[in-house]
Amino acid sequence: MSVLVAEGLQKTYRSGESNVTALAGVSFSVDRGDFVALMGPSGCGKSTLLHVCGAMDRASAGRILLNGQNLAALGDDELTRVRREQVGFVFQFFNLLPTLTIADNIALPCLLAGMKGDDADARAQALAERVGIAHRLSHFPQQVSGGEMQRAAIARALVHQPALLVADEPTGNLDSENGAKVLALLSELNREMGVTVLLATHAADVAAAASRVLRMRDGKFEVRQP
Ligand code: ADP
Repeated sequence: MSVLVAEGLQKTYRSGESNVTALAGVSFSVDRGDFVALMGPSGCGKSTLLHVCGAMDRASAGRILLNGQNLAALGDDELTRVRREQVGFVFQFFNLLPTLTIADNIALPCLLAGMKGDDADARAQALAERVGIAHRLSHFPQQVSGGEMQRAAIARALVHQPALLVADEPTGNLDSENGAKVLALLSELNREMGVTVLLATHAADVAAAASRVLRMRDGKFEVRQP
């Protein structure tokens, strides 16, 4: 069963007087339990592809089915709901809210989805234990290390049990030791919990953890996907 099916995706940004083609016809699919890595030089379209597949932005042309739903057919409110419910994001710079504790950062997606506070807290606690930051729950983001922030961000991305985890250079702002730990965690979550991962990276060791590596250049895959 495919979590994600993308067909002929194109994305053009307007930049001043000119158009920038970020995606020039991308087709692929991600099955449940896959761990797919996008690799390629800076500017080849990796982030754009993640944003479009994760319902953070719209393609200019082409079709995306996310858990069976055609994103192009959704209005803005529905697209937001699908993104909140179906997708978890992990960013290079963590993007935790500085005024919330680690516990509240992790619980936030559940609260936004309408879950009761106690239930959201219980979910956050369980996932914090799984990712190894339960001892940091009452801290604020600036009081913990980069590796711990990224662990919290991974817990936040998974707390509402999304169909797809999207990660944009998740180890790009970590030293090699913490990067390796975060990578090991993503691999474990993929293997043990069946989390479906779509990740962009420059790092060969990160890509090596994936079950499939798709190389991009100039807004396309180097090898056409079946
Ligand atoms: P990557 O993640 O591989 O570095 P991006 O998806 O960020 O690549 O960018 C692909 C291309 O689209 C680049 O040429 C980039 O400059 C351009 N681009 C990305 N975002 C925007 C934007 N918001 N406005 C205009 N151009 C953009």
